[in-house]
Amino acid sequence: MKTVIHSVTIITLNQNNDIFNGHVVVEDGKFKEVKKGAPDEKKLNQADYKINGQGKWLLPGFVNTHGHLGSSLLRGAGDDIPLMTWLKTVMWPNEQKFTQEDVKIASSLAMVEMIKSGTTTFLDMYHLHMEQMAELTIESQMRGVLCRGMIGLCPEEEQREKLNESIFLHQSFHGENDGKISVALAPHAPYTCPPSFLEKVVDAAVKHKMWIHTHVAETASEVKEHQENYQMSQVKHLENIGLFKVPCLIAHGVHLDEHDMNILAENNVSVSHNPMSNLKLGSGIADIKKMISLGINVSIGTDSTASNNNLSMVEEMRFAALIQKGLHQDPTVTKSDEILKMATENGSKSLQLKGVDIIKEGSYADFILISPDIAHLTPWNNERIHSHIVYSSESHDITDVFVQGKQIMKDRKLLYLDEEKIIFNAQNLLNHC
Ligand SMILES: [Zn+2]
Repeated sequence: MKTVIHSVTIITLNQNNDIFNGHVVVEDGKFKEVKKGAPDEKKLNQADYKINGQGKWLLPGFVNTHGHLGSSLLRGAGDDIPLMTWLKTVMWPNEQKFTQEDVKIASSLAMVEMIKSGTTTFLDMYHLHMEQMAELTIESQMRGVLCRGMIGLCPEEEQREKLNESIFLHQSFHGENDGKISVALAPHAPYTCPPSFLEKVVDAAVKHKMWIHTHVAETASEVKEHQENYQMSQVKHLENIGLFKVPCLIAHGVHLDEHDMNILAENNVSVSHNPMSNLKLGSGIADIKKMISLGINVSIGTDSTASNNNLSMVEEMRFAALIQKGLHQDPTVTKSDEILKMATENGSKSLQLKGVDIIKEGSYADFILISPDIAHLTPWNNERIHSHIVYSSESHDITDVFVQGKQIMKDRKLLYLDEEKIIFNAQNLLNHC
């Protein structure tokens, strides 16, 4: 299958931030050609599928590096309360009642929302029915990193079962759907996983060549409690346990000091910055300016719709850019091209994905089209595009989504998921509970 998209404005997000009018040729899931100007007649005639991108922008799809898709039905349930109260009184009791079908509908709903807002890759940390999640991800044709979330506050036998489920998920699905599915290990957090359990997770990661994703330093109270219990920071504790021997991505990192950040930088640990969830739960603002200056790879995640309350990477980028300026009282600390890279290339790096990065020949063809023919993106020229995407665009400006060369949204219509049915089922569940 050869696809040609011509007459389009290409936002490469490469080192020079090149933006030009040109065409791309996509074959076998990758960009075979990314060039200025029109394709030659012969190439155009040989294409199986031609798209006239006149007046549109083509850029890498968004990579959402932290979320919990299965809890999407809890959007708006228990707003405006602190994280621990929210987890103990809203999330965990509700999740205990979820049936397999509930989780299926919730996860599908999240995927619809993500595709429609330009996300091509997501990470899901969830503890229920992850094999079903893998099947759903394959059906959606998205790129997904799946992690069976593990809370270790349970008897040893139960811990072992959770770890075995994670390993089984890896053995069954890692590399499936032409490599679009990958599987990582996800101990929930230092405050829900005792050291002895974390050590077993590290052993499993080494043995099965898996990487690790976990929540770290989300709230001040959790960090304080950890310091009292272990006389060291969460990051130092995880380093001592050996967690950073394998590639690692932490979510949040709101309450890290410079010493913690240096440990993360030395160990090449990436951080998923979730600004909206952190604000909504009153957790604070992660100092990503400092992290970046110390050499940490920072990407962006939405967390779940239960603490955000949507999965729009466009909104998340805007918050990431704006709150950092406010935190440092300095408008120069975030630049729109850097924020865009956090939501794309840095995300792929966080998720250990190879070849999913910028718009260039040889990379996987994960990209989106935006139609700027709308008042809030007008006027535009190449110098203003990065700014418009971060500071002015809305999710519904995204018209088309491709993952590994396969179109999964065309003119805002999903091609692999039944949007209408999924929304009906999700609403129906709330109406009848
Ligand atoms: Zn989370």
